[in-house]
Amino acid sequence: MGVIRRNTKQREAIRLAFLKSPRPMTPSEVLREARSYADSLGSATVYRTLKLLCKEGWLVQLELPGEQVTYYERAQEHHHHFVCRLCHGLFKVEGCPANLLELTPAGCALEDHELLLYGLCPSCNKSA
Ligand SMILES: [Zn+2]
Ligand SMILES: [Zn+2]
Repeated sequence: MGVIRRNTKQREAIRLAFLKSPRPMTPSEVLREARSYADSLGSATVYRTLKLLCKEGWLVQLELPGEQVTYYERAQEHHHHFVCRLCHGLFKVEGCPANLLELTPAGCALEDHELLLYGLCPSCNKSA
């Protein structure tokens, strides 16, 4: 019983961290944020819970080209990302290019797209 209650608390701490974060997070960011709600939280639990929340469809896993780390974010509507090339912080981009059909080669049927913006985040931009 005690174990179940503790797991629930840790899981809720992780969910809360995502609800409070405007940004997708890496497992180490999740650990840091969620610890303020459950201080006994360890990285093994974070990894296990992230996997579980993905399986349940509450989170999605993001693998970005050229990035070593995996990011997680809440499942939501179609959107894109901005990645900081220095600290690898990931940000959500609002909006989507409207002219993709115009860019599609003649005779091709566009089905989907991916878009990733690269640059410096506000704090890296300040110190650069
Ligand atoms: Zn940065
Ligand atoms: Zn789009």
